[in-house]
This record gives sequence, structure tokens and C-alpha cells, in this order.
Amino acid sequence: MDFSVHLISCFYFFVFLSFVLGSVTTRGEYMKLGKHVSIAGGLDKSVERAVDIGCNAVQIFVKNPRGWQGKKLTEEAQFDFKEARQEAALDPVVVHSTYLINIASPKEDLWQKSVAGLKDDYRRSDRLGADYLVFHPGSHTGSGRKAGIEKIARGIDEVLQDVGGSTGLLLENVDGAGTKIGSSMEDLNEIISLSDFGSELGICIDTCHAFAYGYEVSKYDGLNRLLDDIDKNIGLEALKVLHINDSVHELGSEKDEHAHIGEGEIGFAGFEQIINNEVIEDRPFILETPWFDDREDDPDVDKIKDMRK
Ligand SMILES: [Zn+2]
Repeated sequence: MDFSVHLISCFYFFVFLSFVLGSVTTRGEYMKLGKHVSIAGGLDKSVERAVDIGCNAVQIFVKNPRGWQGKKLTEEAQFDFKEARQEAALDPVVVHSTYLINIASPKEDLWQKSVAGLKDDYRRSDRLGADYLVFHPGSHTGSGRKAGIEKIARGIDEVLQDVGGSTGLLLENVDGAGTKIGSSMEDLNEIISLSDFGSELGICIDTCHAFAYGYEVSKYDGLNRLLDDIDKNIGLEALKVLHINDSVHELGSEKDEHAHIGEGEIGFAGFEQIINNEVIEDRPFILETPWFDDREDDPDVDKIKDMRK
């Protein structure tokens, strides 16, 4: 009799203990946090770099971001990356497309080249088992917003028709400078609505770009205005990834220059409420802040982890 009472109380004690431990560790532990890291020395080296600074997610380029042509992706490199990624349990793996791509261009040759470039990025991302490929919608360079949006949607369709795969294609919001398309949620929604693959597309929100465009994401109300705009135009389920970068320049500057966390205009308090916002706290957060060459850890990663409630 005494023994069974003892067993029952032991059982309840363990249930209680696991509940307490679970509630203490769950949130911080399950935050998906990554950083854009270099692939110098081989794609699989990027996994090591991410793990070394304490990340459980990663973003990479799959070839030189300032060129059109990349080295051939060998079977071996593909295998090594996938194995390293699996061992490190990185989730998600995000790829950022190359910079020269402009599928909004009215110039036929540049448009063709850009679509081919995006196709190549997509093919590589899919072969590596990447979860997402993020790209900037592009600039209409004078042809007008409507023409640019049509070009982008046509470009996306050509890529996904020719190179189907399971990697999610994400449009990233931009700073609003010049003839760039995709700073407003209306722009992103129009592209998605025009594409034949609209239901498969998602978005990536960059905090620095949103701030540069005029969303005061440093404050609770400003962040909510952005989330409301996403919800109203595109739907929050389309928001797959956030790039968390502080901004060197002031609100509405239309200048895209990333600062270390807490050292820019968005600031510590800004990021604390961004990464703990209940609507987006489960999304992957990817840092694109400058790399620290002179140290083994990454203060931006540590700051974000410390802020997590
Ligand atoms: Zn970004």
C-alpha cells in the first residue's frame, strides 16, 4: 500500500518536474536562428560556420553572388553538404539568390539572363535540399511599376515551370529606393496574384528594408502595422522567413545598410519585441549582419538569444 502511494507520488513529481523544465527551456530552445555565412572552402564548410557560432539554421549563396556563372555543383559537394546539414540538424537551410538578377527588367536580354540565373540558383538550391530560395523582386528601371510586376510574375512562372522542385521560392521586401519593386506588401501581393504558381510562393521580410521603407518595426505599433499589411494583402501564412538586421540609416531613409543588432536605428528594444512577437516568434530568424573575422563567436547571435523570453 505504502509502496504504491510512493510510486504514484513519484510519478506526479516527475510529471511536475518535466512540466517546469519544459516551460523554462521550450521557447529559447526552439527559436530557429541562423546567419548568412560564407561558403568559402566548400558548401559544407558553411554548416560548420553556422554551428560554431551557435546557430540551428543557416543562409548561404550557392555560387559567387556577384557573377552570373558558378562552378559546377558536383555530386560530391551536394552529398557532403546534405550530410553535414543533417548531422548538424540545421533547419531551415535558406539560399539567397545572386545580386545581378533582375527579372523586372524591361530589357529582353537582361531579363532572359536573369531568368536563367534564377533558374540556376533554384536548381542548385533544390539539389542541396534547401528549404527556401530568397530573391529580390527587381527594378523596373523606368518601364513603370505595372510592367515590372508583370515581368517578375512571368519570370517566376518560367523558373518554376522549367525547374520544378520542393524548395520554396520567397520574395524579399526591399527598401523602396529608385525603381525597385517589392517594398510594399501591395507590390508583393500583386506579383503573387499574377503568377500561375502564386499558391506556392512565400515572402521573406527583412527588418532593415522594412524600416528603410518606412515601417517603424522598432516599435510595437509599427511592427503590427507591417504584420497587418502582410495579413491583409498576402496572408501571414506566406511569411516563411525573417531577415533580422539593424539599420544604419533612419526610418524611411530608403537606404539599405545593415548594422549589428542594437547598434542601429532599430535598436535593442526594437529587436526584443520583434523576436518575441507572438505572431512571428516561431518563424526562422536569419541574421545578415556583418561577419566578425576577428573572433570565434558571433555577438549578434548571442544578443538575439539573450533577448528571447
Ligand atoms: Zn535581407
